[in-house]
Amino acid sequence: MGVGPLARLAPMTFLPFAAPLTTLQQRKAIESFEPGGGFVLDAGPNRTKWLMKELKKAMLRSPSFAALMFEIQKDTTHPIHLKLVSKDPEVYVDGYYSHMNPGSQELDIDDLSHIPSDAPKESPNAITRGEVLVHALAEARAGSLTKTSGADYGEAHDAGIDAQNAYRDALGQKGHRQKGDKDGGFNAVGNFEMVYDNGHLETWVKGEGPASISDVNRMELGPPGKPYDATAAADDLRQAIEGVQRR
Ligand SMILES: [Zn+2]
Repeated sequence: MGVGPLARLAPMTFLPFAAPLTTLQQRKAIESFEPGGGFVLDAGPNRTKWLMKELKKAMLRSPSFAALMFEIQKDTTHPIHLKLVSKDPEVYVDGYYSHMNPGSQELDIDDLSHIPSDAPKESPNAITRGEVLVHALAEARAGSLTKTSGADYGEAHDAGIDAQNAYRDALGQKGHRQKGDKDGGFNAVGNFEMVYDNGHLETWVKGEGPASISDVNRMELGPPGKPYDATAAADDLRQAIEGVQRR
């Protein structure tokens, strides 16, 4: 784990309070969490309501994510600006560095609505809406913190990946999103494809509009009991999609 927000959160505390909280107190603190302080939300009332419901659900599931949100709210010297858009032709799920201002993040709620809130029964390792939110918010936080040090998108994106993997752990899901050239990307037909380190493959099928999602396909590629080579599998898949013969 790198130097992202999670590394700093290692001794887990709920920041608004000095004393350790009971489970019930934690629950109440999360349920009454609202935008404000270092958490600036730019959205109308309906979108705000939708997002807060999703955020609280994710915070209740993951102590590390709840701690991150309280940390963001408390740190008014490094505010994050989250803007909710819908069917934005330039925002694919989330957009870092919006308006060239690190710490500003856009979220496309139409894209998010195609990612399930809960993993489907037949696909327990599925990427959920909470995981995507966690990534976006940890990335925005990293952008806001590194504003003056000139850190680039890659570092903030990696902090987002660390946070989403911690979120998966909290949910008891198998597989972690990988970094660098093992991270996902757009395939030849314009679908976004990701292979997690346990062989969980997700394809976010391109929608009709630009930068949109219509559907999600999932496959488990990892043969049980065998070490899984994610790079080789991703290459195989890419070649299969492109119709290239394997040599
Ligand atoms: Zn990212």
